[in-house]
Amino acid sequence: MFNIVIFGAPGSGKGTQSEYLINHYGLFHISTGDVLRDHIKRGTELGKIASSYINDGKLIPDELMICILENVLDEHPEEEKKGVIFDGFPRTTEQAKALKEMLERRGGKVDVVIGLDVPEAELIDRLIKRGKESGRSDDNMETIKKRLEVYHNQTSPLRDHYVAEGVYAAINGTGSIESIFDSIKAAVDNCRK
Ligand code: AMP
Repeated sequence: MFNIVIFGAPGSGKGTQSEYLINHYGLFHISTGDVLRDHIKRGTELGKIASSYINDGKLIPDELMICILENVLDEHPEEEKKGVIFDGFPRTTEQAKALKEMLERRGGKVDVVIGLDVPEAELIDRLIKRGKESGRSDDNMETIKKRLEVYHNQTSPLRDHYVAEGVYAAINGTGSIESIFDSIKAAVDNCRK
């Protein structure tokens, strides 16, 4: 079991690089954003609650989000054994604490945090471009600005938390997708030794 947190601002390439990680290491991928969008698509009660937060660029409350994540793990015991890529979770210190406790109870830990660094102007360009292609409701200028603010205020402090734990690997998230993945692979392989 080898668990990776892929960490970075909206638009930093977490989803794209997760695809490469899945293909290369065969790990189980949990994108909390995808889980929520699936609920919205299916019109579940949770989807109704989540859509107002997502459209507003705000985070789903910690207690609810932590519960959703643990449910996904409970529903996939075999996949969890392979190791998990956590994409979009944790986003707050409360979530990081919960993830640590959750994994400890399950006999695991966060083995490496891959932090993707991308300058703000490039993040905005990428998100606007993605909005045109994907039609995601939160990829519009107003919501993008709010999401970046939320990231700076609530999520980016986690970097120091994971640096202090000795598991943070800073990766330059600009350049070709392949060259970024080469740097990620080097960081992951270094931790797997
Ligand atoms: P993402 O697809 O990771 O960019 O997430 C899209 C939106 O889903 C975020 O802007 C939040 O509203 C919500 N979301 C996803 N993951 C989390 C999380 N770990 N905690 C709270 N809200 C989340």
